[in-house]
Amino acid sequence: MGRLVMKFGGTSVADIERIRNVARHVKREVDAGHEVAVVVSAMAGTTNRLVEWCREASPMHDAREYDAVVASGEQVTAGLLAIALQALGINARSWQGWQLPIKTSDVHGSARILDVNGEELVRRFRERKEVAVVAGFQGIHAETGRITTLGRGGSDTSAVAVAAAIQADRCDIYTDVDGVYTTDPRVVPRARRLDKISFEEMLEMASLGAKVMQVRSIELGMVHQVRMFVRSSFDKPEDIDPHSTPPGTLICDEAEIMEQQVVTGIAFSKDEAQISIRHVQDKPGVAASIFGPLAEANINVDMIVQVVSADGATTDLTFTVPAADYDRAKETIAKARERIGYGGLDSATDVAKISVIGIGMRSHAGVAASAFKALAERGINIRAITTSEIKFSLLIDAAFTELAVRTLHSLYGLDK
Ligand code: ASP
Ligand code: MG
Repeated sequence: MGRLVMKFGGTSVADIERIRNVARHVKREVDAGHEVAVVVSAMAGTTNRLVEWCREASPMHDAREYDAVVASGEQVTAGLLAIALQALGINARSWQGWQLPIKTSDVHGSARILDVNGEELVRRFRERKEVAVVAGFQGIHAETGRITTLGRGGSDTSAVAVAAAIQADRCDIYTDVDGVYTTDPRVVPRARRLDKISFEEMLEMASLGAKVMQVRSIELGMVHQVRMFVRSSFDKPEDIDPHSTPPGTLICDEAEIMEQQVVTGIAFSKDEAQISIRHVQDKPGVAASIFGPLAEANINVDMIVQVVSADGATTDLTFTVPAADYDRAKETIAKARERIGYGGLDSATDVAKISVIGIGMRSHAGVAASAFKALAERGINIRAITTSEIKFSLLIDAAFTELAVRTLHSLYGLDK
């Protein structure tokens, strides 16, 4: 017997029929003798509609009231699933974030989970064999008692936090794909599903563009060592043997992964913009005068490339920002022009960042060099490069995204 968290995303609970399907997935695990806490998202499309209503009511709305509105989507699914479970003869009870409670910071709209009390859930597993159905995405700020939400995609993070609190053996993430792939299968049809991926690699994949799970959920899983299993919710519950391993991807500690590839996956993002500042004074304090104002404006700078100047007087500096912050970033730099002192600004939004990820890179040399060669052979120009211990990222023209991803996918032996 084990203890499980089962998390279902919006498409998996999109209508009553699918909620009944979810209930049968839960029943299968309960019948196999497991203690189960389910975490649910809002029905597909619901959160978007609620967000839109807030904007319509007033574009400059109070973030506390935004949370009061958007948290309601998960309240509905938690109740509906509890009803569907009861209809199958299963003892089930729904829980809102404030009822457990799931305590969070007071950053309304993207609050961080501080503490989850799982005691009552565990007591009810023991005493009543009761399934807990927890509303994802929401919590409560303890001091003010106000409802908070965790940012879009936040019910993944709720699930991992609940799993840590009740010391679950595993957190199953049921979604509309059957696992984590070496890259997006829509771009590379020969992409393979990974059996296992380490927390660190998954964190990079998610941060760098793979949209499987909320980034914070993986950070939290890594800190608390919560093993997560990404699997499809569309398989028929009756076809799954609860005692065997179904198709899916386990996100776990690297120690659990025996056969380590050098490269595990390739992520990409087209939501990037490049800004180059020309003829910047090459003297101490210049980088601070550029990136200080950007930080104050809450703009996340990603890649930074500075050229070593030939004459010791001026240099060029290139960096990337999220495409959504592009205009603001340019304005911010222009405003600080006097303080920075530069010749001109070049920028581009038709760029993409391709990232190659693998913990095997720690112990293998030349991994990036072979990518440069393969891309050069296809006439793909690299605008900027950054590296870290387990990944490197390349900025290229967006038009070459698919070609670059496919080229690197075969180069590193990831094609199936
Ligand atoms: N319903 C919320 C959203 O759409 C949370 C989630 O689905 O994870 O962002
Ligand atoms: Mg989601």
